[in-house]
Amino acid sequence: MVLNTQTAGDSGMTKCSTGLAAARLFLFFLFLAPTAFADAEGDPISHLLDAMSIEQKVGQMTQVNLGVVIDRDIKDRVVFDTAKLREAIQRYEVGSILNSTSRALTIEEWHEVIRTIQDAALQNDPPVPVLYGIDAIHGVTYTRGSTLFPHNIGIAAARNPALVKRIAEVTAMETRASGIRWNFDPVLDLGRNPLWSRFPETFGEDSHIAAVLGAAAIRGYEGDGLGALTAVASCMKHFLGYSVPANGKDRTPAWIPDVVLWQQHMPPFEAAVRAGASTIMINSASINGMPVHASRELLTGVLRDRFGFAGLVVSDWEDVIRLHTRHRVAETPREAVKMAVEAGLDMSMVPHDFSFADHLVDLVRSGEISEERIDRSVRIILELKQALGLFENPYAEPEAVANFGLPAYRELALDAARETMTLLKNRGDMLPLPSDARVLLAGPAAMNLGPLHGSWSYTWQGADESAYPESTLTIHEALVESLGRERMETVAAAGFDTTGNYDTAALVELADSVDYIVLALGEPAYAESPGALDDLNLPEEQKALVRAAAGTGKPVVMVLVEGRPRIVRDVEPLADGILLAYQPGSQGARAIVDVLLGEYNPSGVLPYSYPQYTGDILPYDHGVLAAVQQLTPGVITYEGYKPQWPFGHGLSYTNFEYGELALSRDRIGPGESLEVTVTVRNTGERAGRHNVDLFVSDLYASLSPAARRLRDFTSVHLEPGAAQRITFTLSEQDLNFVNVDLERVVEPGEFRVQVGERAATFRYQED
Ligand code: BGC
Repeated sequence: MVLNTQTAGDSGMTKCSTGLAAARLFLFFLFLAPTAFADAEGDPISHLLDAMSIEQKVGQMTQVNLGVVIDRDIKDRVVFDTAKLREAIQRYEVGSILNSTSRALTIEEWHEVIRTIQDAALQNDPPVPVLYGIDAIHGVTYTRGSTLFPHNIGIAAARNPALVKRIAEVTAMETRASGIRWNFDPVLDLGRNPLWSRFPETFGEDSHIAAVLGAAAIRGYEGDGLGALTAVASCMKHFLGYSVPANGKDRTPAWIPDVVLWQQHMPPFEAAVRAGASTIMINSASINGMPVHASRELLTGVLRDRFGFAGLVVSDWEDVIRLHTRHRVAETPREAVKMAVEAGLDMSMVPHDFSFADHLVDLVRSGEISEERIDRSVRIILELKQALGLFENPYAEPEAVANFGLPAYRELALDAARETMTLLKNRGDMLPLPSDARVLLAGPAAMNLGPLHGSWSYTWQGADESAYPESTLTIHEALVESLGRERMETVAAAGFDTTGNYDTAALVELADSVDYIVLALGEPAYAESPGALDDLNLPEEQKALVRAAAGTGKPVVMVLVEGRPRIVRDVEPLADGILLAYQPGSQGARAIVDVLLGEYNPSGVLPYSYPQYTGDILPYDHGVLAAVQQLTPGVITYEGYKPQWPFGHGLSYTNFEYGELALSRDRIGPGESLEVTVTVRNTGERAGRHNVDLFVSDLYASLSPAARRLRDFTSVHLEPGAAQRITFTLSEQDLNFVNVDLERVVEPGEFRVQVGERAATFRYQED
């Protein structure tokens, strides 16, 4: 058996057999069942609350890391430390545990972990099962053999809500099969600062895309009902404004005007609440100097009162303590606990100790925080446990294992990776490569799996190559599989920084014998703060590869395997083809090769504005004034939006053309809508998928309006020569913006609607 309970240290803990513990819980649950209280007031949870002491209630609000209860020195097995387990579960009666050891566990190991924890919890009186939480943000991170999908940044290029929902369903099934019922996903932060190391976890810079795809993920996680074997509780995160730190570094201050908060950052969370997300995690950093964990205005005023969110509010990692240690808004750790609870927090991801519980008990006993206040949080936590079926069966559900690792998931991961692929450049239609091409492959992403997967991939950082399943292909392996070893030369090595990846002399020498040079460039895997960047430029040694390759005179293709847009301005002209692969996951190499060789016709479109200069980072929905430039005295141009590639850019191996835009009416009023119809035709010679984005511009408004905003999107699949009519419905709410009083208003006047190069105008008027 791989998993033990360590008996050294404290032998006082009586080990209870699973069967006995489950029977205890079952009896208790019967006791809680409404029928047993036909004459009593209130619901079962009220009775459970009545049976709990202040300490037990506060315990429910406490979440600790798995590391708190295991022997951390033992790496190859999970060995519980009996004394620590007893302290966490029986003395403090913590409500939740999170995370893995430093590696991914097998399903069997997970089941044992959950069994050991629940066995201990069920010895308490009353017995309350522990809620286990995990980060499975692009598939299940910490279970061996799970399916890893592309990160959100690529998924947003596919603009396909049905795909997002299906990925979330599979992730839910593989999480639940691992015995875990709470997933800290989806990430709803906006990718508007490419320096930020969590940019790849976002759905890109657009608020509407994040709202639609985030809601789709939540429906995928929770749609079957939390009691189902196919569901997990989702956790929208990180509320709010986490992704736009002023200095680009993780967990540092953001300065966001209220109108921007409401216009851009709130809508994905509002949509997620409407989609039924059960839980929410809070931004570790601060907005306008106020740490979000201490903001009653945001956690209660906005989230509860305005959005009507009734679910569980959990802190992020150590963030209550950090109100004291990092933010310096609380003079003591005790005051930090008071602030966070008063702001509206239900559960603290402490995660290394029990200080939160100690302080909170003290605060309740001293009357500084009322018992009624903590009852509100504990009720939410218990209700979530009940909805997840933990009171009926707190253990891993063996039937759920049948839903793990199905071959169809690999197909889904391949479809997803293919749909994310974004062809940025194709000079002279040099791509796809002919099937008998002789190719030289070089670059640091060619022989490494980390770059293809990014963060949260069997390890937190995703950079441990030995953690990946044998069957996962590198780009090199996938290309060899398709072309045959005899058609390939390679200048690449294991390890991203290995000098063998940057050997320009070898590249030049081998280039003689090939027709094309493919460079797999980009970023190694990274997660959170360790992924900090000071410079967005593609590193010099990678640019040297492009220069050397171009110097040979052979056609050069750059494949960018990167979570963030790295500046390529000076080498871009040297490449004939550029394919952006983002972090495409376990089938990513296959998908890249399929596009290079024309097995798949790419259709991804940029979910962000790919910057051309490090000092010129401007999202597509910038205010109109931001595009005004006066480079020569007296000469004004409107060309200030000059990314390397604009938001929505993405090429295909075929051509699509738009017919005229037809509007069903040229004016609308309050409560009315209008239809925008356009015909898309495939005028090329290959079948292909095409994303159609609809933008609206408010031409004049009381606050200087955005140049344009994406208000709807869809996609079509067309055979050569085929055409399809697409109709979008624009309603009044698609025209609104957040005014100076922070109200969403539609102001009378002229609006412009744009699809592709086609545009038309209409008026909104109140009478
Ligand atoms: C991250 C969260 C994550 C949590 C638990 C934190 O460091 O910010 O996104 O859910 O850890 O792993």
